[in-house]
Amino acid sequence: MAQYPMIPVPQALETVLTETAISIWFDRQSSNNDDTKTSTSVSNYAQQLLGRIAALDIKAPSPGYPNHNASIMDGYAIKISDLISAKETYDRIIEQEQKDGYILDFHVVGKVYAGDDSDIVRHTTTSKHQRSAIYVTTGAVVPNGYDAVIPIEDTTGDDYSNKIQIISSKIQSVLSTKPLTWIRPIGCDIPSDYVVLSKGEMIQPVHIALLAQVGISLDHVQIKRLPRVGILSTGNELVSISDDKQQVQQQQHGKIPDVNRPMLLSQLSTYGNCLPIDLGIVTDDAGSDNIAQRLTKVLWSEETEEGIDVLITTGGISMGEKDIMEQVFVNGMGGKVHFGRMNMKPGKPTTFITIDREDTKTGILQRKLIFALPGNPVSASVCSKLLVRPCLDLLHDGVDIEEDTSKDTFVEHAVNNARVHEEIMATITSDIKLDQGRPEYRRVTLQRVPSNSSNGHQQYTYHATHTGVQRSSRVLSLRGADGLMMLPRGGTAGCGYDIAKKGLEFPVLLYSSLSTSSSNHTRFMNSQHRGMLKQNTISKKFALGLIICTSEETSTDHFQTIETTLIKSLGGDDHVSVLQRVACKVDDTITQKLPDIINSSQLKDTNVIFVVVPTDSTKEENGSGGSIAFKTSLEVSHLPRPILTKKASALAQQIRMHAASQDPVAALFENVVGTVRDNSAVLVSCSDRGLGGAVGGAKNSLVRLMDILST
Ligand code: AMP
Ligand code: MG
Repeated sequence: MAQYPMIPVPQALETVLTETAISIWFDRQSSNNDDTKTSTSVSNYAQQLLGRIAALDIKAPSPGYPNHNASIMDGYAIKISDLISAKETYDRIIEQEQKDGYILDFHVVGKVYAGDDSDIVRHTTTSKHQRSAIYVTTGAVVPNGYDAVIPIEDTTGDDYSNKIQIISSKIQSVLSTKPLTWIRPIGCDIPSDYVVLSKGEMIQPVHIALLAQVGISLDHVQIKRLPRVGILSTGNELVSISDDKQQVQQQQHGKIPDVNRPMLLSQLSTYGNCLPIDLGIVTDDAGSDNIAQRLTKVLWSEETEEGIDVLITTGGISMGEKDIMEQVFVNGMGGKVHFGRMNMKPGKPTTFITIDREDTKTGILQRKLIFALPGNPVSASVCSKLLVRPCLDLLHDGVDIEEDTSKDTFVEHAVNNARVHEEIMATITSDIKLDQGRPEYRRVTLQRVPSNSSNGHQQYTYHATHTGVQRSSRVLSLRGADGLMMLPRGGTAGCGYDIAKKGLEFPVLLYSSLSTSSSNHTRFMNSQHRGMLKQNTISKKFALGLIICTSEETSTDHFQTIETTLIKSLGGDDHVSVLQRVACKVDDTITQKLPDIINSSQLKDTNVIFVVVPTDSTKEENGSGGSIAFKTSLEVSHLPRPILTKKASALAQQIRMHAASQDPVAALFENVVGTVRDNSAVLVSCSDRGLGGAVGGAKNSLVRLMDILST
């Protein structure tokens, strides 16, 4: 078993998306850009179409909807031309009393109910009367020649006299009726040729409604074919739950039920983006050659009708003697391992492999994607959510880009725009001990709670409660989870603190999206998750300016501690390119002196400036060691506020919380964060309390902010 480097999860995800995009690219070559070839039509009940991706545009046939001028009211269809002379007469009347006595009446020459298709509807009706009207109900066809409808409530009259009168209070407005008043004209809701279902769009109930409205049968809808996903469990110890002798075998010492297969089969069914296929169990003792042979047949459709696009196996991928899956894929099947370990808990051994093979007839490459997941059910579930789901979404959604793009552009576009988990920030409701070795993707239950309302609008935040002991065999820890909270690695090698204190906020990858519209989906390039990757591969270094506010002019050991802490929490010397330090004495002139230092040429090449106030709550003003009295330090940390070009209050809040989780006294400080010198540098003003935690916790956001500023 090769020892693979442990890569960050977002990098693993990027790799999966890249290789998936290449696989789609291969398909595109072989199907010659003809999307109908990769589509199917099911016996189209609405239910079977829901969640599927349309393979072709569908347009509303002529004349669109509605296909007739329809009345929106119960009332009388009239001709505007009939009103002209009446209006002239009415306008000439000066006396109000006379106006009140004016009678505007119409001869009712027919009736059309909704659904009627009588002569009166189809032919322009002529009438000998001066002003004719036709009684219409809501939804009825307004006959040709009639161009407005007067609501029944504006009229009086009886059924027998065939005459109606406009009630006097309404005469004036009726006389000024505009054409098409209370009429829904032909094609006004959906014009002819309007695309009611777009290629690449996910079919929702509203599309079923639109298709019905424009009269298109569901049989006409072409949808993208679902990727076929095989699921295989491995392990000598596994007993299938579908096995009749289950009870007996389970009691056999050392055997356990196969949880992963039924779990993943059902998990994948809920995605709606694939066709999960049960490949059963193989024992470790079956031998890698045998397993490879069998899987080769399954993958390349030698046994099944259509083969399999994506294979998920669980177990046998760690370092044990019986862990043979890598050998199966690499030696037995010619697969290429893209990564073999991920820097996360749970699921470290997760391995991603592709197998490419030339089509014997066309010479074009075909690709299979393989996820070899760890055997523990929690790891298998979490990793398939993190990696497999976005892969399948991409395969199913396809890549929306012009046909003549180069492979590189195609892949880049596909990866950037790939749909990934929606993310929210959530506050933890209890202390969490951070893992010292790896970042953790912890299952949490979310609760939406009202928070401070600002300017009268109610705001909400999310509270996250974890699902108990997170042991990777403990399937109960998956129950009730709404998503995965991304917790940093603890300790000095990680975020700088060991315990994430209740009240801190961390990002959560949501299992299900809060929005249904595809335009709202989170895209990989915009995700915070990917942002974390950037921090790991950060090319830009922190050019650090450090201003220490002090009671003494001279530096002391204490200042050295501040400097070391800062550099360490920013990722060590490798991540800090410049370091300019300045001491700033706290005295009567500091209000002007501090801004002067910030803008001075001394700090001109820095991109992040820390104003740190060493505090000492136990010592008197101007006490020893260079620290300044706590009361003074509270005031000093506010001083840069007036010179900020832009304020970053949320980041300041984040820094404070992280600081406080290391040293509760830090909660008393209000950190000031923003940009200075025309947005060319970020300024952070804080105390030295909990400095390591504060800077470690805010590092990613600082990088992002600097990135944004530099573009
Ligand atoms: P492995 O990755 O094969 O070393 O397995 C790690 C742990 O997960 C072992 O305790 C296995 O017994 C367990 N395990 C492996 N496959 C399954 C499965 N399909 N269902 C339940 N537990 C499993
Ligand atoms: Mg095993």
